[in-house]
Amino acid sequence: MSKEENKAYDTVSSNDPSTKPSVNDPLDSTIELLSKAVPPGVDRRSFLIRSAVGGAAAVMTGSIVSAHERVEKAVATLPVLPQQASPAPPLDPKLNVVQKGKGPVLTTVDEFYKVGPGPSSSHTIGPMRITYDFYQRCTKLPADKLNRATALQVNLFGSLSATGKGHGTERAALAGLVGKEPATVDPLFLDSLRDKPDQVFPVKLGDKTIDVSLKNIVYDATKGDFHHPNTMTAKLLAGDEVLLEQEYYSVGGGFIEWKGYTPPKKNPPKYPFRTMKELRAHADNNKISIAKVILANEMSIAGRSEEEVYAFVDKIINAMVATVKSGLSMPEDNVLPGPIKLHSKAATVYKRAMGDTYQSDRGIGVLSAYALAASEENGRGHLVITAPTGGSAGVMPALVYGLAEVRKVDRQKLREGMLAAAAVGYLCKHHATLSAAEGGCQAEIGVASSMAAALIATAYDAESRVVENAAESALEHHLGMTCDPVAGYVQVPCIERCAFGAVKAWTAYAIASNEIASRHRVDFDATVMALAETARDMNSKYKETSEAGLAQSVVLC
Ligand code: SF4
Repeated sequence: MSKEENKAYDTVSSNDPSTKPSVNDPLDSTIELLSKAVPPGVDRRSFLIRSAVGGAAAVMTGSIVSAHERVEKAVATLPVLPQQASPAPPLDPKLNVVQKGKGPVLTTVDEFYKVGPGPSSSHTIGPMRITYDFYQRCTKLPADKLNRATALQVNLFGSLSATGKGHGTERAALAGLVGKEPATVDPLFLDSLRDKPDQVFPVKLGDKTIDVSLKNIVYDATKGDFHHPNTMTAKLLAGDEVLLEQEYYSVGGGFIEWKGYTPPKKNPPKYPFRTMKELRAHADNNKISIAKVILANEMSIAGRSEEEVYAFVDKIINAMVATVKSGLSMPEDNVLPGPIKLHSKAATVYKRAMGDTYQSDRGIGVLSAYALAASEENGRGHLVITAPTGGSAGVMPALVYGLAEVRKVDRQKLREGMLAAAAVGYLCKHHATLSAAEGGCQAEIGVASSMAAALIATAYDAESRVVENAAESALEHHLGMTCDPVAGYVQVPCIERCAFGAVKAWTAYAIASNEIASRHRVDFDATVMALAETARDMNSKYKETSEAGLAQSVVLC
């Protein structure tokens, strides 16, 4: 048997000599999930590439185009994409998410991983950050203006209006107005707004106190010529007179922007990169891991010490573990809020999966249960972590929990995995989108799964090429996935979709760590470009509007 054939029989955890399969570890022995030998003459990747890209290029040009050439060509041509005809609402070319061909990635971990209430980073955390920002701006107005103020009003547009009710957008927006921040808000406060919607809250602005309630949050037009699909305005009024008005955009992953927004000035990164190719070149040329490149950049961009970066990452790891634990501890007959009357299933799936006969079945079952647990917490509006969004908040925690609590992977390896995962998310945000309202579910669960694959590969000390291949594979197999939440609630298909995203991440790692890395034919950057183009071409009915797909075909009784 050749070395390659032998490798196919190796265990998934073979990259970590300290971690041997154990009968008590339900995530071990996933070898049973994989084909033990690739049939002669059948190369799945080559087949897909030939069918999807290479074939088309060869037919049209009569020549073979390399993946690198395609990526570079795609990057070079991206600036014209927003101007091309699209049935979706036009996007402001000044927005970060549509500025293509811009400078190096400058996102930092504390901007990327955000703790906040579910169920949606763009429809809950973003709007709460927006109204909190507006509240802060109001407090800085001159006293004479504030003394004349009579009301605060928030208007929701586009997808925020179309599906905001199912996401609790109005409650999140009100919470921000009364001075609450996503990371520290008590989810019980948001629950109380749902249970007692007539509550009135005093907002102190200088010497003036203004009463606000859910009546001040207006669900406005769902269609129109908006700068972004998730647009909202906030106003401070004196009768009919507008004292202060700001137009905002919740651009995905809890990130917010506003009319006239310019990205904050940051220090230059130690290792500037725009693409995975450039990122890997830094890693390989300097003989360090992708995670170490990101760590160095975090330190130089944000001016933080290594300890400070890792302290933040630890906080996120602990919060992810806590969401899974909290979700698993919910009673089996718990019903999630909303009209679907969806029973939570994480605890049941976990319990039953642990009784499965085969270890591989237990592995898939419990990993799914971890993802269901964190995602159900999101559905309850409890605190979750954007990685990259609220809808996908079950994917990364499932793997973090499995690696940290079950596999007992070294904490430092986990930290590095979180940094590599963040790099994957940064690149998707930089060149494509993290917003379902812009790109459908591929931008949420697809990116989350890709990040999780990078996390696993890094935690198991895989070389940079394997980290890239795992992330690419996970993203590739979510391309085209639409967003169609039933009744506008982030529950169906979202909760189970997190489980599939987690399992696919493991599959991507299993393939990447067992294939011959250099033979992997699709670059991560090429797949990110495909994500961007698919997002651009996707019918707006499938972009978090609940106008099509399961949102239409599932009938609630
Ligand atoms: S379908 Fe996907 S993108 Fe849409 S809300 Fe659910 S998890 Fe998010």
